[in-house]
Amino acid sequence: MQHNFHDMYRSHNCGELRSSHINNTVTLAGWVQKVRDKGFVVWIDLRDRYGITQLIFDEERTSKSILEQAQKLGREFVIQVEGTVIERASKNPNIETGDIEILVSKLTVLNEAILPPFTIENQTDGGAELRMKYRYLDIRRDPVKNNLIFRHKVAQEVRNYLSKQGFIEVETPYLIKSTPEGARDFVVPSRMNPGQFYALPQSPQTFKQLLMVGGMDKYFQIVKCFRDEDLRADRQPEFTQIDCEMAFVEQEDVLNAFEGLTRHLLKVINDVTVDKFPRMTFDEAIKRYGNDKPDIRFGMEFGELNAVSQHKDFNVFNSAELVVGIAVPGGNSFTRKEIDKLTDWIKRPQIGALGMVYCRCNEDGTFKSSVDKFYDQEDLSKWAELTGANKGDLICVLSGDTNKVRSQLSALRMELADRLGLRDPKVFAPLWVIDFPLLEWDEETERYHAMHHPFTSPKPGQLEMLDTDPGSVKANAYDLVLNGNEIGGGSIRIHDKETQSLMFDHLGFTKEEAKAQFGFLMNAFEYGAPPHGGIAFGLDRLVAILGGQETIRDFIAFPKNNSGRDVMIDAPSPVDNEQLSELSLKLNLKA
Ligand code: ASP
Repeated sequence: MQHNFHDMYRSHNCGELRSSHINNTVTLAGWVQKVRDKGFVVWIDLRDRYGITQLIFDEERTSKSILEQAQKLGREFVIQVEGTVIERASKNPNIETGDIEILVSKLTVLNEAILPPFTIENQTDGGAELRMKYRYLDIRRDPVKNNLIFRHKVAQEVRNYLSKQGFIEVETPYLIKSTPEGARDFVVPSRMNPGQFYALPQSPQTFKQLLMVGGMDKYFQIVKCFRDEDLRADRQPEFTQIDCEMAFVEQEDVLNAFEGLTRHLLKVINDVTVDKFPRMTFDEAIKRYGNDKPDIRFGMEFGELNAVSQHKDFNVFNSAELVVGIAVPGGNSFTRKEIDKLTDWIKRPQIGALGMVYCRCNEDGTFKSSVDKFYDQEDLSKWAELTGANKGDLICVLSGDTNKVRSQLSALRMELADRLGLRDPKVFAPLWVIDFPLLEWDEETERYHAMHHPFTSPKPGQLEMLDTDPGSVKANAYDLVLNGNEIGGGSIRIHDKETQSLMFDHLGFTKEEAKAQFGFLMNAFEYGAPPHGGIAFGLDRLVAILGGQETIRDFIAFPKNNSGRDVMIDAPSPVDNEQLSELSLKLNLKA
């Protein structure tokens, strides 16, 4: 990268000098990564964002006082040097500046540094928590720094692409009223309105809809969202969305627009060309993969075996709602011990299967199952047919309650794919999952919840079914799935007051509650709301996947740890009583 520095500190950066610069006089500034002191000669690796340049000080060509100064430098000192670019005696092909070094004639220490708590090099000795605490030091290392630069590039491409398509980036407020997206709100007390609170947005959902009422037509925003959820691995309480909305659109328009964005990103960021994205209904995804975000880079599709497994005396299967299996490619090579371990794995409480039946598909075309007592070769050949098993595969079969068994088998499918190396991070398989249910039954509250959010419209003609069979009403809702991850989701919205009000009824809001919480939106709908819909992408996850990784924390400059803490600034933390009383708040902590 070529940079023209006209500033006081440097003429070039640490990544740009080549043999073409030999004999030039240059000034560089940066951090001391390494000092190699041979007494009569000292080499220093000088680092900045752009790279590393080697400095040389020696008895013959450098003044004694400068050589001595160099010998006193410690790791991570910030220095400025002036010198001549010379050819290196032994070149280093591993770095871009490896042909040259700087014979230093002037050295200025800009700032000293105490010993860093871990080595600031590509390979570091620092553990994850320590590096989080000193994130500013970790950011000096290539792996972290490059991820941030990568994220910038993706965000820049998103802005360019959407702007070219006529989308306008509009900022919406962070201090708002609660917007339900299925999580708890973070709340902010209002000093000037004692006893009243703002909520931080779980998403700008209602605002972007109001922008459509306002005639903005196409909106996007790269925006922070806040959800106070119980933390699962690799979830952040604050995260970034690419939030979008369009007016005068049907589902097809939204899918096409954002398939375009995704295709553009895959092309410019990963140099991958993808044809039209396949589409699958929610019901089909659940039936074929046990999951609404299937990884379709590999097969192992579910084969339902009720018809070919409930005709014998095996009670476990006979009493099950669903008997379902997958064929593990090459799985017949698993030893008995390995299969037992796999069975233990799915019996762990996190997965909760009661057991696993398996069937080996031998190379000679015969089968050997763990339930040979009940099933003959003809039965087993039907299992193979329905799961798509070939010679040399292993069929794994689970049974029980339909929903549970599907999610257990889905977990097993993903685990096996990981173990068998079938989830290649360089292969990208996007997929639209469409026709989500509008409502979802919640066991805990014994109520229907909006599966996406309460502003999502039901499929045309299905509104009446809300009274008779609410669970089977489908929504104009869609998710974009990439390699087994949901990277985006959205819907066509309700845009008339009556339907919106009916939705709130069905979600168990009283008229008063609905008015108090969403009156502003329903009022706006009375002033000519256009048909509209949109989508939001999770930027953190999208960036991680495009970067060939799955840990979003690695792509966030200052992430929170798994307990939602920022260990660098030590937040959250108590506030003093004075601050609390100013906010008219009193702590009521139970011991
Ligand atoms: N607000 C939704 C979400 O954050 C996205 C959308 O419906 O556009 O998931």
